Amino acid sequence: MVQILPLQPLSRVRAAAARKPHKLKVIGSIPIPVTTQMQLEIKTDAVLNDPLFRQFNKFVNTLRCPLCGSRLDGNVHPREARLYCVNNNAEYICKWLPGENTPASEMLRFWYSQYEYDILITRYGSSTFRTQINRFNLDVLPIYKNSTRKEMFDYSGDRILFFRQRMEEDVFLKKLKLYNVFS
Ligand SMILES: [Zn+2]
Repeated sequence: MVQILPLQPLSRVRAAAARKPHKLKVIGSIPIPVTTQMQLEIKTDAVLNDPLFRQFNKFVNTLRCPLCGSRLDGNVHPREARLYCVNNNAEYICKWLPGENTPASEMLRFWYSQYEYDILITRYGSSTFRTQINRFNLDVLPIYKNSTRKEMFDYSGDRILFFRQRMEEDVFLKKLKLYNVFS
């Protein structure tokens, strides 16, 4: 006997399908549970209303790109914030931990006619910073860029703030030379 089911609106059918987790049917292999395929970061109300997180979020909103003054965007998590310049997400990237007054790491990029300089400042402990500067050739195909890397500077000690601003290449190289002499 054929049973005729009442028609359901398509939207309801789709909604029901969306609620069901997809089951992988792969013959001869072990299906991967849906939950481990993608770890979605969900901020619950408890997290969003946490005063420390709210304070951290507020602080993060006050941060600006040191090179162009633009706002920063990115991921703010109760344990850390990973941010980048909204104007140019390659020129400034940083990581902040809540309740601290210096960033855990910062990456600044300078582009001149022939070279790109990547300045990476990483904090170790409470007040020791490692500043590394690498130079890359801009006159090669992007896939070969990394092979042109030349280490220009590597220093651990006080935080060097000088490079947190735009400057002409001659000023940059002069300062780099000076730091290399004294480091
Ligand atoms: Zn910027």
